[in-house]
Amino acid sequence: MQIAFIGLGNMGAPMAANLAAAGHSVTGFDTAGTTATGVTNAATVQEAVANADVVITMLPNGQILRAVADQVIPAMAPGATLVDCSTVDVDSARAVAAQAEAAGLMAVDAPVSGGTGGAVGGTLTFMAGGSAKAFAVAAPLFDIMGQKAVHCGDSGAGQAAKICNNMILGVTMIATCEAFALADKLGLDRQKMFDVVSTSSGYSWTMNAYCPAPGVGPTSPADNEYKPGFAAELMLKDLRLSQQAALSADADTPMGQMAAALYEQFVENEDGKGMDFSAMLPRFQKRTRN
Ligand code: NAD
Repeated sequence: MQIAFIGLGNMGAPMAANLAAAGHSVTGFDTAGTTATGVTNAATVQEAVANADVVITMLPNGQILRAVADQVIPAMAPGATLVDCSTVDVDSARAVAAQAEAAGLMAVDAPVSGGTGGAVGGTLTFMAGGSAKAFAVAAPLFDIMGQKAVHCGDSGAGQAAKICNNMILGVTMIATCEAFALADKLGLDRQKMFDVVSTSSGYSWTMNAYCPAPGVGPTSPADNEYKPGFAAELMLKDLRLSQQAALSADADTPMGQMAAALYEQFVENEDGKGMDFSAMLPRFQKRTRN
């Protein structure tokens, strides 16, 4: 397949390299001039997409996605498929898909989970929205870049699944961290806390697979001075997207709202920027009720 890959950043570069390594012809473009192994860089975004069967975007946010869509959709070959793997707001995902379909193209929104490790290792999970026909075109590429792809529904359904999952993740991480901080103050040993909770009804992915306490549970960013991993500012981005979606859908999400406010405070007013999102534990550890 002839593939164009727009946005060769921390995630996009290894994803594009995996497609090239699997034998696809990949042309890349990034405004920062970054490149990826096995990928031929184009001089302009229009040149990158002109002969592509599939155009994949992996960009920072919905505003940039909309701007790139305005450039690439008129330059794409008739019948080609636009696959956006960025995490963006549901409204932007739906608007870009509608714009592509109006131009005679197919579109899939397919945000990922699995982070840079999953991008490098080809073990991402894709959650996709769009028609069955468009999903069928993209599915073999998801199989190369990831280990699982779920077709969640129509346009925007992939982004909806992603932000709902990450709202649970943010809320659960905060709950796990504040419980550890309370256990500390009650004189409970952290290992004992882990042994009980990881096998009791308080268990979760954040406790069992990504424990925020150093030296306890499986190896996680807590064991590497809270270097990300999944950075607190990326969690904040996803929590903000969940609140933007909740507002536009008139959904009551008080825990998600609180998690967004706490990560905002951590990233913008405390020392959370550049730290893993599990560094909420040392944050709570330092604090008192006031
Ligand atoms: P990044 O900032 O490393 O990469 C984004 C790239 O897009 C940059 O190289 C930038 O130069 C390029 N870009 C910006 N504007 C452009 C334009 N107009 N045309 C072409 N290229 C342009 O970000 P990332 O970590 O690779 O994340 C990409 C997306 O994946 C984000 O939406 C993020 O939320 C999502 N995501 C990231 C992770 C992660 O762990 N990093 C995990 C899951 C999802």
